[in-house]
Amino acid sequence: MDGIISDSQNAFVGGRQILDLVLIADECVDSRLRNGVPGVLSGFFGCSQGIRQGDPLSSFLFLIVMEGLSRLMCRAENLGLIKGFRVGRDITNQVEISHLLFAYDTLAFCDANVSQLRYLRCILACFQAVFELKVNVAKSVLVPVGNVQDISSLAAVLGCRVSSFSIPYLGLPLGVSPRLVGSWDSVIDRLTTRPVSIAGGVGAWKSIRKGWDAFSPHVRFSVRDGSRVRFWEDLWCGNQPLCRTFPRLFSIAVDKHATVANCYQLDNSGITWNVLFRRSFQDWELEDVSIFLDQLYWQEGLGRGYDDLTWIPSSRGHFEVRSLFLCLSNFAPYDLPWKTIWRSMAPTRVAFFVWTAVWRKILTIDNLRKRGNYFVNWCCICKQNRELVDHLLMHCSVAHDCWNLILGLFGMYWVMSHSTKELIHA
Ligand SMILES: [Zn+2]
Repeated sequence: MDGIISDSQNAFVGGRQILDLVLIADECVDSRLRNGVPGVLSGFFGCSQGIRQGDPLSSFLFLIVMEGLSRLMCRAENLGLIKGFRVGRDITNQVEISHLLFAYDTLAFCDANVSQLRYLRCILACFQAVFELKVNVAKSVLVPVGNVQDISSLAAVLGCRVSSFSIPYLGLPLGVSPRLVGSWDSVIDRLTTRPVSIAGGVGAWKSIRKGWDAFSPHVRFSVRDGSRVRFWEDLWCGNQPLCRTFPRLFSIAVDKHATVANCYQLDNSGITWNVLFRRSFQDWELEDVSIFLDQLYWQEGLGRGYDDLTWIPSSRGHFEVRSLFLCLSNFAPYDLPWKTIWRSMAPTRVAFFVWTAVWRKILTIDNLRKRGNYFVNWCCICKQNRELVDHLLMHCSVAHDCWNLILGLFGMYWVMSHSTKELIHA
């Protein structure tokens, strides 16, 4: 994501923080005021219509779409059509900033000049036409920076209203003097009382958290320097966390939340483990201690580089959606009688039908109802039971008679299996 998304965007990208953006915006306004050249700042609110709400990926899709706007702005800036605010004390090495994006929130900086605002309007129109994301004019404002003549006619170009400093930006006041101690109150308040929350980001994190319990048991740490792995609580040594393998030792550990790095020393002679306990061991604990130390000294790879996560279900250790799906569904692929189906003499479409039936995906009324079609769920043949795949193909009285007839012709008597998968196995 970092590679694709330009520096102007700050939402949902690793290592970029919401407060950075507010500080950059503040610096832009401040340096422009000091320059004494009149300029304008326009704040737009995009509208997220058309992007699925609640989908954990929607934030990232939105980011990619907004990158389109960012690139259009950069292009206009490079062609000299729009001139951003120059920031930086060193005149020869100043940075020109024409826009800052945070999810739906867009700030554009340019000179107080009708032609530049017309180009800005053009860019927004192009962006709307291509991505069908509308700018919410009712929520957009134009703010004069410095001594701007006839701001209302400039605002008319964009069709938005005029506002003045300080304006709220990402929940913090923009345009108040950073030298006034009071202007930092809301920043300190934000940082000390609660985590900064992001309008669209909360949805993504909620979804990620929801899946964490299903995800975390399949992850283990490959420890290198051990600074990011908790010694007792994380899974890094053996098949479960050490606190569960050695509960008695854990109960007398001095620091129950220690990292692995806290517990060993590395010198020329190798690794020395130095785990601290509240008291010396009792006789009955010595066996545990011996196994515990064995396990620690067998651990390889310690001491160099960064700790990493390994995805247990995959042989390469990389996360795969497919393997998580298999873990969640408890459905091992080798369980499927694929050879019997695909390597048989049956025509391809028969094999395909059987394959679909084994996966219980053929369009029975039961499956159609799961897709949101409303039918009475009874078997179309016997009108007595639910129309499940196994019922329709095997257990329905009519299907059952059919099987008996055909198998009887070959002199076979068969006890019907429980499911289509078992039947194919048989
Ligand atoms: Zn039936």
